[in-house]
Amino acid sequence: MDESKFNKVDFSKYFQPPSLKAARRRRRETVHIINDFSIPGDMKTIGRGKKYLVETYGCQMNEHDTEVMAGILEEMGYQETADVNDADVILINTCAIRENAENKVFGEIGHLKPLKREKPDLILGICGCMAQEETVVNRILQKHPQVDLIFGTHNIHRLPQLLKEALFSKEMIVEVWSKEGDIVENLPQSRHGHFQAWVNIMYGCDKFCTYCIVPYTRGKERSRHPEEIIEEVRDLARKGYQEITLLGQNVNAYGKDLQNPENYGLGNLMDEIRKIGIPRVRFTTSHPKDFDDHLIEVLGKGGNLCEHIHLPVQSGNSDILKIMGRGYTRERYLDLFYKIKKAVPNASFTTDIIVGFPNETEEQFEDTLSLVRECRFDGAYTFIYSPRAGTPAARMQDNVPMEVKKERLMRLNKLVDELAAESNARYQDQVVEVLVEGESRKNSEVLSGHTRTNKVVNFRGPNSLIGQLVNVKITDAKMWSLDGEWQKEPEVAGR
Ligand code: SF4
Repeated sequence: MDESKFNKVDFSKYFQPPSLKAARRRRRETVHIINDFSIPGDMKTIGRGKKYLVETYGCQMNEHDTEVMAGILEEMGYQETADVNDADVILINTCAIRENAENKVFGEIGHLKPLKREKPDLILGICGCMAQEETVVNRILQKHPQVDLIFGTHNIHRLPQLLKEALFSKEMIVEVWSKEGDIVENLPQSRHGHFQAWVNIMYGCDKFCTYCIVPYTRGKERSRHPEEIIEEVRDLARKGYQEITLLGQNVNAYGKDLQNPENYGLGNLMDEIRKIGIPRVRFTTSHPKDFDDHLIEVLGKGGNLCEHIHLPVQSGNSDILKIMGRGYTRERYLDLFYKIKKAVPNASFTTDIIVGFPNETEEQFEDTLSLVRECRFDGAYTFIYSPRAGTPAARMQDNVPMEVKKERLMRLNKLVDELAAESNARYQDQVVEVLVEGESRKNSEVLSGHTRTNKVVNFRGPNSLIGQLVNVKITDAKMWSLDGEWQKEPEVAGR
């Protein structure tokens, strides 16, 4: 291992720190859709007899990026392994959304140091959102010379070339594009699931919520063309997939960046996908500001569109929402919530909430509690605000002590738990349709899956049911899951 290789990297060539002004100008730039991905001739068999492991942190977008990287590596001859000791290439696909996630990644990089010392030919790469952050790359350059390769979220398609450089160079290879690239359509994918699949419909985010690093790490909003998406979904249907999830950082902005005189948006796309023979269609993540009436109307048509809406609110107080830059008020969020509820009466709702945003008062926090009580969410991902370097919120002064933030989170979680239990209790003695996803993590004799409304259901049955839609009668509604009995003969389906 070359302990001095970080000195040889001119970092300024590869990276510019987040700039809100520069990032906002980017919206006018044209995105090109290209289909020219190919593995260079001399890299086509480089992985024969070798193994790879990609460790993934963070959101579904990262999980799907991992499927693409796995697809590329497999086209180069590599085979997947779950054992780090067996791997010739280890990639850590990172998440930058919270400090905690970053600390875990640095812990993992540290753990891999002895292995790299033992196996100097091992290629250790860091990619994903953390790689787009200047502070992170500097820290790796200075303190973790065991890393061979750093690349960002915009140049995954360059993995063969980057791997080649890492294999044949003694320097740490850093290629992080601060400006997003084109959409590359013909990348290979090695999907992890055989009956559930992620389908990217767009990349990036232009919302610039003041606490969020994503618009900088993932770049501007770029929508895939509808024909490409629909063809991918049709192909998944032909292969027998039971469920797809349309993915984007802000899926409701889908289509806004296309040359699009008809204002083709997510509603239009979902309306077309509704007619494809795939039993379940989900979408994530929604932003309330862009959630339009056409989409609500299409969701109301039901069919394969699942009755689960993840609608991040973040705060129940309009002043805090304004400082967060969310672009809606408490009242507008509630209007939207009731509109969707009216169109899709059986829908379950989940949300994301940040507590302890800089200077949040007790009254403002209580507004969040009252909104949660009013919406009676089925579940919520709750977090204490975590400043991310380079974002506008990180520069805000904060007078709320951490103990107060923790106490607010506890109160919020208590309410969320009560509402989850109340929501699950409504399923007692109901027969629900479950997509069987596998053995339960806690008990291998029990199968586990989700309802259309995204409730976890556990029940006993043969493993041959995995990948199928079955009916289950709920016998015990717990706070965060439902236990039931498999119904061999269908009674009722569709909830
Ligand atoms: S919409 Fe979501 S991804 Fe985009 S800036 Fe806001 S929180 Fe981040």
